[in-house]
Parts: sequence; structure tokens; C-alpha cells
Amino acid sequence: MLVLVINSGSSSLKYQLRDLDAGTVLTEGIVDRIGFPAEGGEVGVADHEEALEVVDAALHEVLAGRQIDAVGHRVVHGGERFGDPVLIDNEITRAIERLNPLAPLHNPANVLGIRAIAEKWPDMPQVAVFDTAYHRTLPERAWRYAVPDWLYTRHGIRRYGFHGTSHQYVAGRAAGLLGLEPAAFDGVVLHLGNGASATAVQGGRSIDTSMGFTPLEGLVMGTRSGDIDPSILVFLGRLGMSSDEIDDLLNRESGLKALGGSNDMRTLVEAAERGDAKARRALDVASYRLAKYVGAYHVAVGGAKAIVFTAGIGENSSVFRALVAEQLGALGVVLDTEANAVRSPEPRVISAPGSAIPVLVVPTDEERAIAEATAAVVSSALGERASR
Ligand code: AMP
Repeated sequence: MLVLVINSGSSSLKYQLRDLDAGTVLTEGIVDRIGFPAEGGEVGVADHEEALEVVDAALHEVLAGRQIDAVGHRVVHGGERFGDPVLIDNEITRAIERLNPLAPLHNPANVLGIRAIAEKWPDMPQVAVFDTAYHRTLPERAWRYAVPDWLYTRHGIRRYGFHGTSHQYVAGRAAGLLGLEPAAFDGVVLHLGNGASATAVQGGRSIDTSMGFTPLEGLVMGTRSGDIDPSILVFLGRLGMSSDEIDDLLNRESGLKALGGSNDMRTLVEAAERGDAKARRALDVASYRLAKYVGAYHVAVGGAKAIVFTAGIGENSSVFRALVAEQLGALGVVLDTEANAVRSPEPRVISAPGSAIPVLVVPTDEERAIAEATAAVVSSALGERASR
């Protein structure tokens, strides 16, 4: 089956074409600056329909006469309704649109991508795979904020969690590496990229996660503050800062960038090794905060069978992994220094044989997870139709 995976943003459209039978990526790319004026000889792309024409032209050669069987969309917010990937129809598209207030930057852009495909290829099966879906199994004690009920009933203010596709995929691969069925896996998954979140997995299901109502809550991230005292927002408001300014401050000017002067882990590690005190402080704060979440989630899952690192920092930064692991001595965690230093695209164990909890590195692959989910939904829909 050939599946086109689409990640549609407000001004960009990322795509990847996968052959699921062969297990290969046929091509991938990004059309960006959608809606921006043409620049220096470049052709401008006015909207998502035009962007799709660019993608179609790029796919043409690779396809060499073969047909795309289905399109899988990364959709950021599935609200409380969507706990699984779904086949998209008009009602589903409108339901995704109704969630726009919860993800004003992302869901409207996802819908633009869905509509552009429906317009160009009306018979193409399309599947939505939601970033929040894996966390739909959070128990109420984990998703509820201790605030008056109308915030939830009127405005949907609760914890949703994000990076779900990645957490689910990585938890499944980690279970495989330990020789367990996914449903027998209890552990803590750490998705550490520019955005970062930790998830407590029990019996293969997400039971707690560090991102909340929005992807701002939780860990120290590239440019996001993670957890702070909410009174700081009130304080800043009283100083006269607007809500847009506060939003920008906490989402784009905070985190590692604010603490250490860069949101790039490589830059920070190099600077810290040269003795830069700000960079060292950034690594200290971020690794300490992360280690505290690992301790909390070890308790939440009733004893983790593994601690799993993934995404840009988790997969590549042996220094950051070591900083976190050093602080987990109370849990009996011991890294194997040599294994931790290995660079590899394969899932692997990096803890010492005597570690009380195995520590793993499992590369994430959200596109693969989306493509596989899309194929599963489309195959089962075709099966249902055939058996009717
Ligand atoms: P992501 O959002 O998953 O692409 O991750 C981005 C983060 O991964 C950035 O902070 C990068 O600095 C970090 N990263 C990527 N490659 C490396 C590397 N080789 N060593 C350390 N950090 C890396």
C-alpha cells in the first residue's frame, strides 16, 4: 500500500510517501512559505491547493504510474472525542474544525490540508491521526486541573497531552526490545526534541503525561518554559504585558534559549564543555526537572520496567542522557557509559546490566506510525464494505 503522510501547517506542507509493503520511504519534502509573496526568482505558493500541486508534481516521477492508496494526516488536537485514528468524511472534518479554539495555530491548518486533498482527489481515502489520541486513556485524576468545573464544562480546560503518536510508537518498540507484548509494558517515555514531553505508560496505555491543556506545560523545552507558577502570568499582566506578549515570552523566548542562550542542545553541550556557566545552568535545570518527572512517573506506573529516550535530544545527546541518569541513582539506575556513547539508528539498551531499571534509546518515527495507522484504518474500512 502506498500512503502519503501529510503534516499541514499554516504556512508549510510537509509530506512523505511510503511504500508499506516494501517498508520504504519513496520520497519526502516540504513546501513552505505558503501565502508569502514570491521571493528572488522563487515562485510564490498562494495557498494549500497550490502547495498540493507542487507536491503532486514532485510525486509524479517517483510514482511512475502507481497510485497513492491513502493519505494520512497528522492532526494536532483530537479533543475528548478522538482516541483512535479515523477515516475522514465531512462530519469528521467539521468535528476537527470545532476543536480549533483548543489548537488555534494547528487544527485550522490541518483542515486546510484535508480539504485541499478532498478537492484534488475526491475519492482518496483520508485518515486523521491525532497527536492527543494516545492520551485519551488518562484517568480523571491525571487530566483534571484543580479549578472550578465551568472551566472544563464551558471551555474544555483540562489536560490533553501531545506527542501521542510518538509516545505510543516508542512504547511499542521499547516493549519489543524487552521481549514484552505492548500491553504488558509499564515505563516512562521521554520525547525530548525542540518540544519535549514525558509519558507514564502502564499496560501499554498512557496514564499520565507532562504536556497539558497546551504543549507549554511540563518539561523545560527549546524555547518553552514548561511548568511555572501560574501567578507569574497574573503578575506580568498587572505589569501591563498583553496576553500575546506573555504567550510569546513563554512559548518562544523561554526554556533552554532563555537559560543558556540557545535552544540547540549541541550548542549548549559544546558551550558547557568550554566552561560557559549559562549553558551549564541550562543543562542543570532541564535535566533536574526531567529527572523529577521520571521519579513521579515511576511511582505513577507502579514501577517502571524501562525508561526510554527518544526524539532529537533523546536519541542523540549522550551528555544530556547521562545528566538525567546521574540524578536517578535513588531508583537504582546505572548507565553503561560505553553503550550510552554509541550512535545508532537502532533501538538499544544503554543501561548497565545491574541497573534496577533498564534505560533504552528508541528512535521515533511519527511518519511511519501515521502511515501504518492509515493503512490499518483504510484496510478495515474496505473489509467492512466488502462484508456488507
Ligand atoms: P527534534 O525536535 O526532535 O528535531 O529535536 C531537536 C533537538 O534535538 C534540538 O535541541 C537539537 O539540538 C537536538 N539534536 C539534534 N541532533 C543532535 C545531536 N547530534 N546531539 C545533540 N542534540 C541534538
